Amino acid sequence: MTLDFPRAARVTPAKGVFIDNEWRAVARTIPVVAPAEGVVFAEIAAGGAAEIDAAVAAARRAFEGGAWSRLSATERGRLLSRLGQLILDNFDELAALEARDCGKPMKTARADIEAAARYFEFYGGAADKVHGEQIPFQRGYYVTGERDPLGVTGHIIPWNYPAQMIGRTLGPALAMGNATVLKPAEDACLTPLRIAELAAEAGFPPGAINVVPGYGHEAGQALADHPGIDFIAFTGSPRVGVMIQTAAAQNHIGCVLELGGKSPQILFEDADLEAALPVVVGAIVQNAGQTCSAGARLLVHKGLWDRLMPMVAERFAALRAGAPDDTPDLGPIISARQQAAVQSFIARAEAEGVPVIARGARQEAAPEGGFYVDPVVFGPVPRDNALARDEVFGPVLAAIPFEDEADAVALANGTDYGLIAGVWTRDTARAIRVARQIRAGQVYVNAYGAGGGIELPFGGVKKSGHGREKGFEALYEFSALKTLVIKHD
Ligand code: NAD
Repeated sequence: MTLDFPRAARVTPAKGVFIDNEWRAVARTIPVVAPAEGVVFAEIAAGGAAEIDAAVAAARRAFEGGAWSRLSATERGRLLSRLGQLILDNFDELAALEARDCGKPMKTARADIEAAARYFEFYGGAADKVHGEQIPFQRGYYVTGERDPLGVTGHIIPWNYPAQMIGRTLGPALAMGNATVLKPAEDACLTPLRIAELAAEAGFPPGAINVVPGYGHEAGQALADHPGIDFIAFTGSPRVGVMIQTAAAQNHIGCVLELGGKSPQILFEDADLEAALPVVVGAIVQNAGQTCSAGARLLVHKGLWDRLMPMVAERFAALRAGAPDDTPDLGPIISARQQAAVQSFIARAEAEGVPVIARGARQEAAPEGGFYVDPVVFGPVPRDNALARDEVFGPVLAAIPFEDEADAVALANGTDYGLIAGVWTRDTARAIRVARQIRAGQVYVNAYGAGGGIELPFGGVKKSGHGREKGFEALYEFSALKTLVIKHD
């Protein structure tokens, strides 16, 4: 066991599952591997059906008559804001923990902890800003519409942004007065466990936030199937998304699903290349490409191709993957399993003869056992190749030339996904025309927002999922409209 890297990381030993503001011991544990080194450095509890049962019961007590249910919206907001402040107060510890657990460069880990704090601050401020409305109805009636919490909400999050994800999914649910049960990912969940502890320190009453780490097919499945939850929020793979939605249907509850994408960045011939280039490269390299909204397809006007691609190639060739402390351009992949999946995707494209335009490398200092993948840009990628359609979840950019505006739109919409998109042009009318035709939850013009964007409603269409998180929209997602009809004469 090596415990010295990043040096500030205070490793939380397997304390168990966090229920009713207490750690409860669990017999089985899961080893935690540092992706940058490929070594086990901690362990977490392997919660199962019994722990999920206990967590849902605790949340139910909190929601129905517990101290949590008696708080006003302002008081809930204050607790959320206090948690945001506690995250900032423990910034270095959390950033080091996130970097070690996920293998992220320290710079990225710091940005993620800042974003986690922002989620709690944002939803802390928003908690008492959601108000109902009066609805004109027949004479003699007074009618209002008001927002009720849903009850006990289940949350299953992935390993790519554990700290951000706890803020993104619990922030709005708690702001609206729900009591929550979170199942973080077995591959990376140390910061959510620490943030749960900080929530108790902030003063959240017992049962408002319960966190049960464990395997997906055990704790995750038990939470999704549980008849005691009133809603479930899931971020992860389309395969598991189907299982979550099926379980939600069995229990007649709603769900929000965020299942990834194959998001396009469209560069027209009049694009500001100086502005676009770093963003185009950053949007696929960020978090080693393990971002649902990664800019994974570069759609380039045929007249721009010969000018642009050498510039993209130069940037890719200079990229270096390495360990968190060594200021690399990107870190490793989360696990040996995911690394193998990304590498096999790359090998298949090469075997099929898709041209490699440029490839980065790993830093000399990168630890031997880390799960690194050299960033690579392919192109021109045939439109029917898997690389042009399927999510890789690694630092792999697929460049594809297009003929004209209509072709660009058809290409952009030509996958099963629809999460986000970028349009780069100096022609405002074209930007608006194209943006309006793209089927996606977010479209950026002369910008691109992979990750972050707490204030901006976010979510997908098609296989990218449904429902919206982030921004005010999430507050509506985690609440139900109740119509109140009062006859007064
Ligand atoms: P996954 O869907 O298996 O895991 C996501 C979460 O779901 C984890 O917490 C996991 O424990 C849980 N889970 C797994 N099986 C479950 C089940 N049967 N019931 C309930 N919960 C369950 O994702 P993965 O295997 O870690 O990654 C595979 C692929 O998923 C990636 O290559 C990527 O394409 C995609 N992915 C997308 C996102 C995203 O942000 N949209 C995040 C992670 C992974």
